[in-house]
Amino acid sequence: MLLIACPYCGNRPETEFRCGGQAHIARPEQPGALDDQNWSEYLFVRKNPRGVHAERWNHAHGCGRWFNALRDTVTDRFIETYPMGERPRSEQGGATAPAATSDIQSEARA
Ligand SMILES: [Zn+2]
Repeated sequence: MLLIACPYCGNRPETEFRCGGQAHIARPEQPGALDDQNWSEYLFVRKNPRGVHAERWNHAHGCGRWFNALRDTVTDRFIETYPMGERPRSEQGGATAPAATSDIQSEARA
């Protein structure tokens, strides 16, 4: 069974978690200024990469808290998990995850 490291509870079985989709989505500063095309892309269009992806996860059957995770979509391996509002350690000069770092930086510019 796959274990996922909740930042608050530690390693727990995957059946306790739910994925909440892509993390670090840049919210529009002026939502009313967007046209319908850009608004629908903000609401519905998400990345679906082959490789490292930043995702939001919820420990639904545990503490109930949300957190972020870097997960390799090919191997289903969790590279790291970290609290909401923080950036991954790999982005702060910790463990290396070059694909994830570049992916997150491109999201921040979006
Ligand atoms: Zn938890």
